[in-house]
Amino acid sequence: MKKSPTILTGMRVNSVITLGNFLGALLPMVRLANKHSDSSEINIFVPDLHSIIDSVDGELQANLVRSLKYYLAAGLEITPHVHLYRQSRVPAHSELCWILNCVATMGELNRMTQFKDKSSGKDSVGVGIFDYPVLMASDILLYDATYIPVGEDQFQHIELTRRLAERFNKKYGDIFVLPATPKEQVEFMSVNDGIRIRDLQNPEKKMSKSTPSPNSKIMLSDEPSAAARKIMSATTDSLGKIQYDMFNQPGISNLLQIEALLNDLPLQDVISTWAGETHYGDLKQKVAESVQTFLEVFQEKLADIDDGVVFDLLQTGEVYANTVANQKLHEVQKCVGLR
Ligand code: ATP
Ligand code: MG
Repeated sequence: MKKSPTILTGMRVNSVITLGNFLGALLPMVRLANKHSDSSEINIFVPDLHSIIDSVDGELQANLVRSLKYYLAAGLEITPHVHLYRQSRVPAHSELCWILNCVATMGELNRMTQFKDKSSGKDSVGVGIFDYPVLMASDILLYDATYIPVGEDQFQHIELTRRLAERFNKKYGDIFVLPATPKEQVEFMSVNDGIRIRDLQNPEKKMSKSTPSPNSKIMLSDEPSAAARKIMSATTDSLGKIQYDMFNQPGISNLLQIEALLNDLPLQDVISTWAGETHYGDLKQKVAESVQTFLEVFQEKLADIDDGVVFDLLQTGEVYANTVANQKLHEVQKCVGLR
């Protein structure tokens, strides 16, 4: 029997990810899934249709399999309530997207900040980037998903999803379950509220995979001892005091944050351990060791996961996803007169 609420995530993984992506998004999702999989359905899908909005670089299949392995290597426990699937293997996503396109308006899609950001100054803008929030609404509404752990940049799209569902329900009855409001989402996942790993060279900025400087970021594919060296050469400050103060000492604070998250310790405990210490080198040494150990273990786990394991999970996950999604789609099709 389907459990409720459904928790759904579809992180786009078009390339190798950074330690920031891992600690800020992937690991919190895995912890959330492990915590709730006996009381909720956990849908983890690869948004491959969203991925082709940018460019199809021929690597999509490899990225897709690797991205699912990341979840497993991060400790995702597979239970009968955890479902892995590829968006494009569940055609109901595209079908519902079309129907919701007939519910959404140009005006509201034009107001999406992400669309404005990504299209501004361009001569030619793809329809895909304009319409992507409607596909995202379909991803959510097909499964009656309540919680969708996303970054703040996606809150506007959650609000849009709620609006489209409400508009449809008003006309046809209670067909869609509205996802929780962004405020409720944040409360639910309190675990990743506010995690923002900093750029190692410019700690005022966040660590980003698109930053060109390799020393600014730790990629999950970095050679572990090379990653440790990046920590040793991280920018700090000249105050000579180890304390958590993101405003005045973002470099040191970032190291304390990384240390806490990698060892699954409360940040406060790590701050207390280092309180009163003055040697930045000692802290760097400790964090460098944590990063190196983490990468060694993570990379070993990743290498041990056979592609076959992922494909087996996809096979059962996609049967489940198609069953749930087709049922909802059928209801919707009846409402609008297609069935
Ligand atoms: P890009 O430079 O291409 O924007 P990115 O590193 O910012 O890449 P995204 O693909 O934009 O990564 O985001 C993927 C997920 O990782 C999002 O949920 C985002 O909130 C989270 N994330 C990105 N950077 C960090 C960071 N430095 N700390 C914590 N979470 C992060
Ligand atoms: Mg980003």
